[in-house]
Amino acid sequence: MIIFVGVAGAGKSIQGRMLAKDLDCPYFSTGEFLRSHVDKNIQNKMLTGELVSDEETISVLDDALDLHHNQGEFILDGFPRTASQAEWLIRESKEGRFKVTALIHLLASPEVIVPRLLGRHRPDDHPEAIKKRLDEYRRHIEPIVSKFKQSHVRVIEVNAEASVEVVNKKILSALKETV
Ligand code: AMP
Repeated sequence: MIIFVGVAGAGKSIQGRMLAKDLDCPYFSTGEFLRSHVDKNIQNKMLTGELVSDEETISVLDDALDLHHNQGEFILDGFPRTASQAEWLIRESKEGRFKVTALIHLLASPEVIVPRLLGRHRPDDHPEAIKKRLDEYRRHIEPIVSKFKQSHVRVIEVNAEASVEVVNKKILSALKETV
């Protein structure tokens, strides 16, 4: 499993999909799945930039892993986003359900991501929701990254402000160094 984390607008989805194509493996985004499968109540919460509950998100991923993961490589986008999600993932990997090859942290500053988000016209890309997602990210990212480091998972930090192609190349070469 290769995990993509990063602030909204850093390019997790596009980079995750490109890497899945490069490695010819499944790609799963919790955000994408949640947007189209949860009830109105949760959808409305998502529109404000708030996180969905750990319980709901973990159960979505649990089912997706049963369906799509067959011990080969697997790209996971947008999970974990909290310390308890990170703990759950690490626990599952220790129990042998999958191996975490690397956690890729895409880094980009608000100056770069805000215009990107405002330009893509998604319903949760309005200024208040963007601020909320930035706050959630800042609050949660450090504990998540340190939990993975403590579990000896390779953490790859990539400056994601460059073009899509450049970032993809950086990810591929960093991954080559790890295996
Ligand atoms: P994304 O498509 O990754 O930008 O996610 C869009 C929205 O989906 C987020 O703002 C959250 O409301 C929700 N979401 C996605 N992944 C998670 C997660 N791991 N935990 C909680 N909420 C999530």
